[in-house]
Amino acid sequence: MEMIRLCVVADNMPVIFLSSRVHPGESNSSWVMAGTLNFLLSEDGRALREMYVFKIVPMLNPDGVINGNYRCSLTGQDLNRVWLNPSPDLHPTIYYTRGLLHYLSVTGRKPFVSTLNKFSRRGWL
Ligand SMILES: [Zn+2]
Repeated sequence: MEMIRLCVVADNMPVIFLSSRVHPGESNSSWVMAGTLNFLLSEDGRALREMYVFKIVPMLNPDGVINGNYRCSLTGQDLNRVWLNPSPDLHPTIYYTRGLLHYLSVTGRKPFVSTLNKFSRRGWL
């Protein structure tokens, strides 16, 4: 995992956490994430980058996507159902993402969290 730092970060800046694609079949959420990233990395996104720290996991289920699954990971599990007790071996993306969220919370930087899951025209956050 690579971290990209595009401006100076102060310790007291609020954190926004974004994730996407926990369900491989919801490919349109990748387009929403791509648009979000393009905006944040553009000059127009500079004001947001200067106000917030963004922690972004653009794809929570890469093995499911690569293997063409609709809802499950390579282990055959719906990763959205393992958040309470993820395994570092069976659900590493959820395990480490949960760890990041826990770390931010216990260090006093509880993030605003949004998952970009788009599976219908009825709302996507
Ligand atoms: Zn979903």
